[in-house]
Amino acid sequence: MNKIRILPDNVSNKIAAGEVVERPASVVKELLENSIDAESSEIKIAVENAGLRAILVSDNGLGMSYDDALLSIEPHATSKITSAEDLSRIITFGFRGEALPSIISVSRFRMRTKTEGASGGVEIFVEGGSVSRCEPIGCAKGTEISVRDLLFNVPARKKFLRSDGTEENHITETVYSLALANPSVSFELIFDARRIFNSPGSGSLVSRIRSFFGKSYVENLLPVEFNKSGINISGFVAKHGNTRSSRKEQRIFINDRPADSPVIYSGIKNGYGSIVPHGRFPPVMLFIKTDPARVDVNVHPAKKEVRFREAPLFVAAVEKAIRETLRNSQNSTVHISPEISLRNILDASTISYDQAKKEEERRGKSLPDIFQDAEFQKDSGEGAKEHQGKEMDSEAEKQAVDFPVFDIIGSLNDTYILASSPDGLVIIDQHAAHERIMFEKITGDVKNNRAVSQDLLIPITIELSGAELEFIQKNREEFLKTGFQIEKFGGNTALIHAIPASLPQENTASFIIEMVENLLLEAKGGKINYNAIAREACSSAVKAHDKLQTLEIRNLLRLLAKCEMPFCCPHGRPTMINISRGELEKRFGRSSKSK
Ligand code: ADP
Ligand code: MG
Repeated sequence: MNKIRILPDNVSNKIAAGEVVERPASVVKELLENSIDAESSEIKIAVENAGLRAILVSDNGLGMSYDDALLSIEPHATSKITSAEDLSRIITFGFRGEALPSIISVSRFRMRTKTEGASGGVEIFVEGGSVSRCEPIGCAKGTEISVRDLLFNVPARKKFLRSDGTEENHITETVYSLALANPSVSFELIFDARRIFNSPGSGSLVSRIRSFFGKSYVENLLPVEFNKSGINISGFVAKHGNTRSSRKEQRIFINDRPADSPVIYSGIKNGYGSIVPHGRFPPVMLFIKTDPARVDVNVHPAKKEVRFREAPLFVAAVEKAIRETLRNSQNSTVHISPEISLRNILDASTISYDQAKKEEERRGKSLPDIFQDAEFQKDSGEGAKEHQGKEMDSEAEKQAVDFPVFDIIGSLNDTYILASSPDGLVIIDQHAAHERIMFEKITGDVKNNRAVSQDLLIPITIELSGAELEFIQKNREEFLKTGFQIEKFGGNTALIHAIPASLPQENTASFIIEMVENLLLEAKGGKINYNAIAREACSSAVKAHDKLQTLEIRNLLRLLAKCEMPFCCPHGRPTMINISRGELEKRFGRSSKSK
């Protein structure tokens, strides 16, 4: 008996849907791409319940005839290519003829469409893959597609979806990227009854970027223009110093198709080189145009990944484009960290192992090894209350955990404080330490219900994206608790009236922008608590490379000693590391015998 059979369409479509319809944003992407392919100049997207209840996309494009409309929902039905050769020169978004059949197999689907000049349009209802009704109707030129109850018949898949906030963010990002690639098309995005944005198709990329991300976003970018070896690169790259904590703001378009491309990402990384710290990502918006035959967009059904036939050439082109742009701009002075002068360290050194040894003896016990001894994190009670060496004062008594005695040696690159402890060399990240101190100050104030705000003399305006403004609105209470008084001001603008009392007032605008961005990313659009706000506020407000005087270093260490958790920053990175004497001896090849 034969065992092989051809799967019925409704089964194979559902399988294809698994690849095409990963989440509500994938449906939005496919429908928008179809609208753009149909030469629309106005597209409206309305989403209910993060896309699970309904996704409605309407356009004023070419529309479809009665017969085409019926054909469009069949598998492998496409108007965009006719032969296999066409695959090597794709300029439309679509070509696989898979999107509509995939979507209809996992939703309740309705389409209304009409071509220019036709006397009437057609309306088609499809449920669970089969046409339930199809009749002529009167409607405007263009196409309107409504996708309801997405994934209603594949509950297992639905479980993989994230919070509404996350799914909405994915949708917003999808619309952002397609809108950026098509600045002459109008886009309107509505979530439930909230209009997220309405961006007219003025044709200007800059005004679109400004309307999505705010004025200051644009001011921190440099325009790129590069044209060599048949590769055209245009768009914008971040000025020196403008970086983010994720790659989310690196938007790549290949022949106007938003794409993920490790090849381009590595070109960006090379282009910025060492001026971008590890783990940071400069925002870019790169439009790479080249002969379609040199790229393969048919790697995955979702068509998000793009491969290059001559990858190294493209890496080099992006690298060169960025290098040249940075070099030509005045803002790109590359800061090279000064050579560490060993002399300086030694000169300033007050290393006094003997002193420390004496101190140890005086206390009648050796100092605990803070980096290995877990017990040390706890309040180990009497007898273990060590003091901050020479900085001993009455306040130091209050410190929550034991803190070793340090002798300050000096500072390295205005970033690290070098100190000696009885057990060797301690390197303190002044930035992380500062973050920890401020964080505990802010959260302590919140817990103790103290007045936490400082009013700004003149309120500061900042530009935020629609999603960011929404997010602040949603978490208003927690922002207020922390000491931030921010209100929406109209358009993309927000007004900052007050910030937490313990934060510095320098660069308020830019640190708040960075903070909101990181919080939104972390909360995935949902709720966030004051702890997270305090943490992000501190890390955005405090920057490395502040030159500290010896007195300030002492002060910093004293305050750090009083923290509940002095050994890590609010993100959990260490504030200090210890290189023990044993380790030093090993590194220098001094065995304990040869001492
Ligand atoms: P593909 O885009 O890969 O061709 P789809 O399943 O997305 O496949 O769409 C099938 C066909 O339906 C398209 O080739 C196009 O002819 C037609 N179509 C889909 N959406 C629209 C629209 N919004 N306006 C006009 N035609 C459309
Ligand atoms: Mg399509």
